[in-house]
Amino acid sequence: MAQRIDASTMRQLNKATVLHCVRARSPISRIEIAETTGLNKATVSSLVDELMDEQFVVEVGYGHSKGGRKPILLEFNADAAFTVGLDVQITHVTTTLCNANGTVRWAHTVPMDMGGTDVQEHLLALITAQAANAMAAAPPSPHGVLGIGIALPGMVNFHNGHVYMLPNMGVVDWDIRSALMERFRVPVFVDNDANCGAWAAYRMNPTTKNLVYISAGIGIGAGIVIGGQLYRGSRGVAGEYGHTTIVAMGVRCTCGNYGCWERYAAEESLLCYLAENGVTDFQDVEEDFVEKVVRAANKGNHGCVQALVTLGRFLGIGMANIANTLNPDAVFFGGHLSHAYKYLLPQLKSSMDLKSVQPVRETPILLANSDSVAIGAAGIALAETLYQSDFVEN
Ligand SMILES: [Zn+2]
Repeated sequence: MAQRIDASTMRQLNKATVLHCVRARSPISRIEIAETTGLNKATVSSLVDELMDEQFVVEVGYGHSKGGRKPILLEFNADAAFTVGLDVQITHVTTTLCNANGTVRWAHTVPMDMGGTDVQEHLLALITAQAANAMAAAPPSPHGVLGIGIALPGMVNFHNGHVYMLPNMGVVDWDIRSALMERFRVPVFVDNDANCGAWAAYRMNPTTKNLVYISAGIGIGAGIVIGGQLYRGSRGVAGEYGHTTIVAMGVRCTCGNYGCWERYAAEESLLCYLAENGVTDFQDVEEDFVEKVVRAANKGNHGCVQALVTLGRFLGIGMANIANTLNPDAVFFGGHLSHAYKYLLPQLKSSMDLKSVQPVRETPILLANSDSVAIGAAGIALAETLYQSDFVEN
C-alpha cells in the first residue's frame, strides 16, 4: 500500500535531496539542481534560500552561461556542522571529529585499560570523556556538533541502542544508548564496529554500492552495504560471519558454538600458528602484537611468515563464503589484522580462487582506511541527524 506523506515531510525530504545534491556535486547551479533532482525551479530556489540561511550552502561565484545570464554556483559548507565518532576496541579507543563531508578535523587514540570490576561504568566514563574532548575540539560553526556515533565490537541493535553482547569485554544485555543519552545534549547512536567500517567504505567510494567490510582483530565481524544502504538485519546483528562454522566440531568459541571462523582467523589464532611454527616470543595478544609479528616477518623470520600464511588461508576461506553468498562489488579488509595486509593478501586471493564460485573469484579485496570505523561512526551520526540526507538516493 502506498504510504501517505504530509506536505511538511515532503518538504523535508526535498530539502534533504537538494542538500545531498549540492554536497555530492559542488559547485552546482540552481538550474542544475532542478535538472538533477527533477524538482521544479521554484521549489529548488526556495529550498536553497533556506539552506543558505542555515549556512549549509554558500554562493561561490558564477558558472558558464548557456545563453542568458551566468548562473550563480553553490557549494556545500561542510564545516557548518560536525559529528563525533568513537571506535571502542578492547585494546584502544579512537575518537574522531568529522565535518559534514566526513573529513576528519580532529582525532585521538587512547589505550583501553579494562582493569577494574565494573566494566560498564568504566566504558561509560571512557566514552564520555573521549566524546567530550572531541566536542571541545570542534571549531566555531553555525550548528556545532549534531550527534555522536559509537562503534562497539559486538552484537548491537542500532535501532534501540541495546547491546546484546560484547563477547571480548564480558558485557551482555546493556542499554548503553540510554545511559549515554543522559550524559550528552546531542543524540547518541550505537552500532557494530564493522557496520561503521562498511558505512565509511561506502561514503569514501560512493559508486561501490554493494560491499562488505571485514573487521578482523580480536574477533571477526562484517558490515554489509547493499544498494548504498547498510543492511543490519531483522534484529541488528547481520554480518556475524565470525560465528559461522568453518570446521565441524572444531575449537570451542566464546559464543558457545564450535568451529567458528573467528577461532581460526583472528589474533588468538595467529598466536597458535606462531607456536605451531616454533615462534615462542609472543605469549599474548598485546596492543601492537600484529605489528611486531609483521616486523619479525620483514626481517626474515620464517616461522612468522608461515604463521601469517596459515592465518591468511583461513581468513580467505571466510571471505570466499561471503563472496559466494553476497556477490559484492568489493570486500574491504580492516581491523587490526589488516596491518599484516602484505602477507595476508596473496593468501586471501588464493583462497578466493579455490573456494568461491567462478563469477565472484575476481571480487576485489581492498585495504580499508585505518580510521574507517571511527569515521563511519561519525558518518552514521551525521546521516541520522542532517535531514537523514544519506538515506535519500541521488
Ligand atoms: Zn562463535
